Amino acid sequence: MSKFEFTPIEEIDKIHAELKAGFYSGKLKDVAYRKYQILQLLYLLKDNSKRFEESFASDLGRPPLESQFFEIASCIGEIYNYYKSVDKWAKPERAPFSLLWFPMRPTIYKEPKGVVLIIAPFNYPIFLSLLPLASAIAAGNTVVLKPSESTPATSALFAELFPKYLDNDLVRVVNGSVPETTRLLELPWGHILYTGGGRVGRIVATAAAKHLTPVTLELGGKSPVFVDPKCDLKMTARRILWGKAANAGQTCVAPDYIIVPRSFQDTLIKAFKEAHDEFYPDGPKAPGQMSRLVTPQAFARVSGLLKNTKGTVVLGGETDEATKFIAPTVIKDVKPDDALMSEEIFGPLLPIMPVDSIDEGIAYVNAHDHPLAIYAFTNDEQFKMKIFNSTQSGSAHVNETIIHPGAEGLPFGGVGPSGSGYHTGKYGFDIFTHLRSSLHSPGWVDALMSFRYPPYTAAKIKS
Ligand code: NAD
Repeated sequence: MSKFEFTPIEEIDKIHAELKAGFYSGKLKDVAYRKYQILQLLYLLKDNSKRFEESFASDLGRPPLESQFFEIASCIGEIYNYYKSVDKWAKPERAPFSLLWFPMRPTIYKEPKGVVLIIAPFNYPIFLSLLPLASAIAAGNTVVLKPSESTPATSALFAELFPKYLDNDLVRVVNGSVPETTRLLELPWGHILYTGGGRVGRIVATAAAKHLTPVTLELGGKSPVFVDPKCDLKMTARRILWGKAANAGQTCVAPDYIIVPRSFQDTLIKAFKEAHDEFYPDGPKAPGQMSRLVTPQAFARVSGLLKNTKGTVVLGGETDEATKFIAPTVIKDVKPDDALMSEEIFGPLLPIMPVDSIDEGIAYVNAHDHPLAIYAFTNDEQFKMKIFNSTQSGSAHVNETIIHPGAEGLPFGGVGPSGSGYHTGKYGFDIFTHLRSSLHSPGWVDALMSFRYPPYTAAKIKS
């Protein structure tokens, strides 16, 4: 396993200067070279697939199936799409035809923004680091990636592999924690993509404002699930429980809590118990079945929420500090003022908040920060439209959880406190691209437009 070392702070300015020189070298003006770098990124992932599985197992205790499904295999497919699409995305576009303007050939050039910074969280290190990196390269930028210090094995692997696969003049890893990131944020960037919690998001946005650097903020929040009694009960329980237990609940779009009619709460709990027994015949702690909390601090925070709840644990509840294990846990009769409702849970705890009417649940959601995702489980189109039409969120889904960030062609992003801007696919290319408008006006245009020049005579004004 590679050794995890922080980048010396005094090297950060030098790295920035080298990437600036790399940007102006013009290498990435050539789309073929961008494609070559994207291809290299694909080889980096393919050649080292097993090593990434091992680093995720070391950092997050993650089962190999989750590593492949959420990150390695899916990102290889997505990055290959970037490789295939970049020629089309990067092509200059003609403005729509207009009789007045067409002689001047109005054109939009897709220009890179310069040296860009990607700050990544711990929970999906490939999806949230290498996909944006591929987008930034596709758009022709040079890039600093700052991975999370909470996943030392994976961040060390990035630092080892990047110089072997990618052009060092164009792409670098800076490893570190707050001091290193603070220094990075003091520098001017063409764009910053930050993924993480809202508290640090505010720090990033404030630092970026000093240089008027554009920022994309991919943040978190409490994503609610509305369950309608008119749902496919077994499927509902399976998809919610899986969405909560995957990566031990450390998913930005994990179902955070459930809103359900009071009279349906126990029926839903029974279905959760059945789904749980099917998922974990040997218990969730059996080897290779469940990820662990990322750090002792994360374990202490999530198990603290569980200790402080006034709701009733009806499923799971086991915690083990030594292995940072927390079982998928369902808690019933949770009230709005409960500890579990005070912050994004980011762990495998699933509180159920029963309500007397759907309007009560909607009012609760609308009284809080707009979430990154809202989920509705129902077979009733009216129920779906009521939820969709009376709430705001980064995205909204019916009868599904957590897989939408991987859906090809869909933008991924939050709204308000859950984020601003979108990425993945063409949307990722767009955030790292400046649309440079251009006219190329021939001399004969003056035959039509010479009236614009002084003197501004009365005759000209009349005509
Ligand atoms: P975090 O905010 O603690 O850390 C994210 C990054 O910020 C890390 O690289 C870290 O080194 C850096 N950082 C931490 N403190 C900093 C400071 N004071 N100044 C500058 N940089 C600092 O987030 P995390 O714990 O890694 O991830 C969990 C959060 O991320 C959750 O809220 C989750 O919902 C959110 N998230 C959002 C998305 C999304 O796409 N919207 C995806 C994954 C995670």
